[in-house]
Amino acid sequence: MKLYSTNNKDLRVSFQDAVFNSLPQDKGLYMPEVIPNLDPLFIKNIQQYSLQEIALTVASALIGDDIPKEDLKKIVEDAINFDAPVKFLDAETGVLELFHGPSYAFKDFGARFMSRVMGYFSKQGDKLLDVLVATSGDTGGAVALGFLGVEGTRVTILYPKGKVSKVQEEQLTTNGQNIRALEVDGTFDDCQALVKQAFNDASLNAELRLTSANSINIARLIPQTFYYFWAYAQLKAQGVNEVVFTVPSGNFGNIGAGLLAYKMGLPVKHFVAGTNVNDTVPRFLQSGAYEPKPSVQTLANAMDVGNPSNWVRIQDLFDNELDKLRSIISSFTYTDEETQVAMRELFEKYNYVACPHTAIAYLAAQAYKAENPGEYASVFLSTAHPCKFPDGIDADIFEKVTYPAGAEELAGKPKLADPLAVSYEDFKEYLLKNK
Ligand SMILES: *Cc1c(COP(=O)(O)O)cnc(C)c1O
Repeated sequence: MKLYSTNNKDLRVSFQDAVFNSLPQDKGLYMPEVIPNLDPLFIKNIQQYSLQEIALTVASALIGDDIPKEDLKKIVEDAINFDAPVKFLDAETGVLELFHGPSYAFKDFGARFMSRVMGYFSKQGDKLLDVLVATSGDTGGAVALGFLGVEGTRVTILYPKGKVSKVQEEQLTTNGQNIRALEVDGTFDDCQALVKQAFNDASLNAELRLTSANSINIARLIPQTFYYFWAYAQLKAQGVNEVVFTVPSGNFGNIGAGLLAYKMGLPVKHFVAGTNVNDTVPRFLQSGAYEPKPSVQTLANAMDVGNPSNWVRIQDLFDNELDKLRSIISSFTYTDEETQVAMRELFEKYNYVACPHTAIAYLAAQAYKAENPGEYASVFLSTAHPCKFPDGIDADIFEKVTYPAGAEELAGKPKLADPLAVSYEDFKEYLLKNK
């Protein structure tokens, strides 16, 4: 597999380089030079395969010889060891549940696969790989649990004190082993600024082999294609042939992976993006002008993104042509009030407790269906388990949340976190003292 930069189509780097660099120096995004077309027979018979078999076929088509198939098989089977079921709410509406992994959110797919790929490429004798990550909640848990116990790696997570939910904090701070958490007396933006400064600090980089677990890493994007194929396989097994996927979107990595799957030959009728009031992409699809704005805080806080970092990739997939983008993607935007009404409707109509992000996808799926009636399955993605978002869900509904197995055990573990002031000097000293 070779990759180019969206800012320089003549650039070619290996998969390994793209994984460790995350983004090209020209600040573009890595894209596969060739998007392979999967064997039509594989798609035709896809309902015969398991999630892991599908994942291996898709990953292998993309990555090629960069990881021999036997090794890739081990990575896939180790990383994708939980299900992503499609559950039907009614005859034509399904929800693809992506929260059955260890951090109860879809980011487990990306983080677990990336951690194992990084472990694989970090050959013995290499310096310890130091992963730095700032989190507002969901990314950190997926990265911590994804890298937990992966040899040759260590993760340092910075999270804003008092600004993550209970379950999120437990996932960040109860791991030990090769995972350490820094509880920063500041905001998520402060955490991100500290991490950014560390990456730009030459003397620190001379001492430590730093890497980011950024959501734009190609090794996070690839595994997110798997569950679109797997959802389609489940639908096909039930006799459904046409599907519209609706994706709650923030950085647009999740829906970007769906569009990559589509480009590889997955038959999808249409994609719908649901956003909160951070509506840069919906405005772009309307007007054709890309005008990012500072992010606004909402109930669906994992989607509070004013300048979605993966959007460039999606534009690249469709040759930067607005007409092509509009023919495959629609988008809808919702306020917190609308999101709350949707959570209540899901609960009262279907006895389904959804997180705010998932509720936005539900609304967008309905809006698209109202504008485009027809005989297709409308499947929206549930990106997180509701137990991670107690503040966003009305108390009487939240009471009905069934916690995943393991959540209780997590709550009983001691908290392991070191306090950190918003001070780069302190952060650097911590990293160097605890090498
Ligand atoms: C990260 C996240 C999203 C947004 O996904 P993108 O790939 O950034 O669009 C949506 N929902 C939840 C729960 C998330 O954690």
